Amino acid sequence: GDFELEGIDYMFKIVMIGDPAVGKSQLMNRYVKNEFHMNSKATIGVEFLNKTVHMDHKLVKAQIWDTAGQERYSAITAAYYRGATGALLTYDITKRHTFNNIEKWLDELHRHADKNIAVMLVGNKTDLSSNREVPIEEAKEFAKEKGLFFLETSALDSNNVEPAFLSLLSQIYMTVS
Ligand code: GDP
Ligand code: MG
Repeated sequence: GDFELEGIDYMFKIVMIGDPAVGKSQLMNRYVKNEFHMNSKATIGVEFLNKTVHMDHKLVKAQIWDTAGQERYSAITAAYYRGATGALLTYDITKRHTFNNIEKWLDELHRHADKNIAVMLVGNKTDLSSNREVPIEEAKEFAKEKGLFFLETSALDSNNVEPAFLSLLSQIYMTVS
């Protein structure tokens, strides 16, 4: 209710998107709860977690939405993207096809989300870099070309997880403050 909003200056809706099994749910769990589950189940329906952060002496509530992305009803897709101010678009650095599909996810964003949505491209699973299929330089080039922010992360060992979310939140903050 209203009580929860006490002291909150801004509410930012963030959507987790990307191919199945790239680590969207575990990135969210790591960031919000500092937890990681190796046997993470496919997300059923839509879930969200809240995290409150201080930015520039303001209190920002990030509402992070997560789904398996296999919605059969366009009404759900529309609701998922409605009002989203940021997207964390994730691929798995050990699975080339998940990087190749990033274009498809950008198209989906352009179809359903606000055109000013801030997008953070994330190459997850750096702890498995011995199995890497996507060179970091290639991803950096791609992100630059598309005007996306970019970081590689690991939800397993926490590498860059907080910086990825914070960078996205501060991009949004800069556009609203
Ligand atoms: P989602 O379908 O994109 O939400 O992916 P999940 O978060 O459910 O993760 C899919 C699988 O990858 C699970 O077995 C996770 O434990 C595993 N996983 C997620 N992030 C990482 C990571 O950074 N490193 C490793 N080694 N495994 C990860
Ligand atoms: Mg999931």
